[in-house]
Amino acid sequence: MVNHEEMAQILLRHQKFLITAHIMPDGDAIGSMLGLGLGLQKKGRSITMMCPGGVPENLKFMPGSNRIISDNEISPHEYDIVVVLDSSDLERIEGIYERLPKDVVIANIDHHATNKGYGTYNYVDSTSAATGEQVYKILLSMEILPDPDIATCLFTAIATDTGFFKFSNTTSAALRIAADLVDKGASPDHISEQVYEDKSLGSLKMLGRVLDTVQVDTSGKIAWVEVHKGWLSEFSLDEGQTEGFVNYPRMIEGIEVAFIFRESTEDKIRIGMRSKGNFDVGLLAEMLGGGGHAKAAGCSLNHQSIDEARKLVFSKVYELMELAGG
Ligand code: 5GP
Ligand code: MN
Repeated sequence: MVNHEEMAQILLRHQKFLITAHIMPDGDAIGSMLGLGLGLQKKGRSITMMCPGGVPENLKFMPGSNRIISDNEISPHEYDIVVVLDSSDLERIEGIYERLPKDVVIANIDHHATNKGYGTYNYVDSTSAATGEQVYKILLSMEILPDPDIATCLFTAIATDTGFFKFSNTTSAALRIAADLVDKGASPDHISEQVYEDKSLGSLKMLGRVLDTVQVDTSGKIAWVEVHKGWLSEFSLDEGQTEGFVNYPRMIEGIEVAFIFRESTEDKIRIGMRSKGNFDVGLLAEMLGGGGHAKAAGCSLNHQSIDEARKLVFSKVYELMELAGG
């Protein structure tokens, strides 16, 4: 394991970078990728930025996002180093990890407690609110001062992963960094408007459809919503535009764990998880082959219907609740 200063020195030893992050990228994935990419470019490095599936509509306002390419445009042999951001395991960089050369140098920069340490170099810090916070520290160690573009990207990373500074991962350190990024040119009102308040009519109608599926289990502790196959294409949306929907079942009083079950196109059920009390959804996700944080996590289950997936997931929840004496 290395710290931010060591990671800065390691990165500076390389010239040709592939910077990537997890599939269904969120604000932290795209924001930390752009922050690091634009920063390293100031040091004369050659930068390719790639995200499996491309950039969701509501994150395209971030400066430089038009330079992010998708996985099928990449020859993974061309790079000195592959930087993997915000990804607890390598399978999260779907579409590219299978094609990486065996001897490739990987820099793993992430804040998930469930991180597998898959890199040649690993800078994993679960006390960081967002990977963007780690990138900020790396840039300062490289003596790169954030310009307004970098500040916008890193602020977006930290703001989105903390629910605009209201989730339990909101620390004074994250707030101090965010304040510095505002001094450097990030505009919180503009960023919030772009991320959350510039939605298509379809995405609001989709929210209505999804909210209509909300249910609470017999224990009264688990609530969930569902996204059925075909709904995304009906409203011309991608999966990323269901981001945040899982927060609604979490709002119901008495609920300890909330889920969103998404029937994905590749015969997969993608599951998003949120915890309201002490229940550790990161642990649950890890048991199911996924990962995440104690309060926000996810996994994918193959070839199952939502009902099958839900039964499996809930049985694990009950098991863990019993173990915890709850
Ligand atoms: P979200 O529900 O916002 O997509 O994800 C919540 C958290 O869980 C994020 O930190 C995300 O990276 C992680 N996560 C979501 N799905 C998966 C998954 O399938 N595998 C792993 N390892 N992590 C996931
Ligand atoms: Mn993150």
